[in-house]
Amino acid sequence: MRLPRLPVVLAAGVVLLTSMPTARAAAAEPSFVMPSPYVIAIDPGHGGSPTSDPTQLWDPGVVVGTVMEKDITLDLAFRLRALLVKERVKVVLTRTTDEYVEISERWNRVHASAARLFVSLHVNAFNGDPAIDGATVFYPKPDSLSFAQAIDAGLAQTLRGYQVPDDGVAAKPELWVRSDIPTATVEPGYLTNPREAALLSQAAFRDAIAMGVFQGMLAADPQIEQVRQQIVRAEAAAAAQHRAELASGADAAGTATATRWGLILGGIVVLWVVMRIAIRRQMSPSQLPQYRRRSYRRRRAVSRRS
Ligand SMILES: [Zn+2]
Repeated sequence: MRLPRLPVVLAAGVVLLTSMPTARAAAAEPSFVMPSPYVIAIDPGHGGSPTSDPTQLWDPGVVVGTVMEKDITLDLAFRLRALLVKERVKVVLTRTTDEYVEISERWNRVHASAARLFVSLHVNAFNGDPAIDGATVFYPKPDSLSFAQAIDAGLAQTLRGYQVPDDGVAAKPELWVRSDIPTATVEPGYLTNPREAALLSQAAFRDAIAMGVFQGMLAADPQIEQVRQQIVRAEAAAAAQHRAELASGADAAGTATATRWGLILGGIVVLWVVMRIAIRRQMSPSQLPQYRRRSYRRRRAVSRRS
């Protein structure tokens, strides 16, 4: 009884084939490098409200009626951030809520962000003469002069339609003394000037301020736009590679499945053939005449009917 062992081996082979794992497409190495985003820090000036804790500091900035500088600066920061995020810039705010933050802590947050540009947003005030008006930009050191000029030029362009005078740039060395990146303090209008106070309450005017600062930043450093283009190109390459991987993965899986079923069917056919041979060889000689007799009778019956 040696032959019946072969079908058992073949059956085991079929079982093994059906449990064979599907081939997986090897993950390709990325053929592109995703550039680091350009980082800009924005400081919404002032912040914080009085609490039950008398030791807790708070700083609303300029207050005219119910209007507070700290609320305008935070809103301007959000509008400017939205423009920069669309430009693929990574934006870091020194505060995102109505929070009191010391100047030294604000600078720590800017420094930790590895920002390449920094603007502090404020609105101006001049006690005693409500006629004083206009937009101005302060810079701490001469190495920030060209950045301040670019921001001022951007503001002059977007605020021209609102007849807000361009008061130019001015050095204020006492502001941001630790600055080591291009730094500008933006004062886009006077809350003590009734006409500019009314403008500062309008969303369209706030958008114009944010756009002016944004365009000034783009003009100050062409790297912002270059990094945006690099990121867009890298994202397109990543998306194309992802699509290609999905397609080749589906192909490989389809081929593996077809191969496996081919092997299974082939195995079953071979098994069936071998089993038949084995059964025939095991038949005893006494069975053969029986088969012949039967066919002989059938033939006779057929011949009788005719
Ligand atoms: Zn201020």
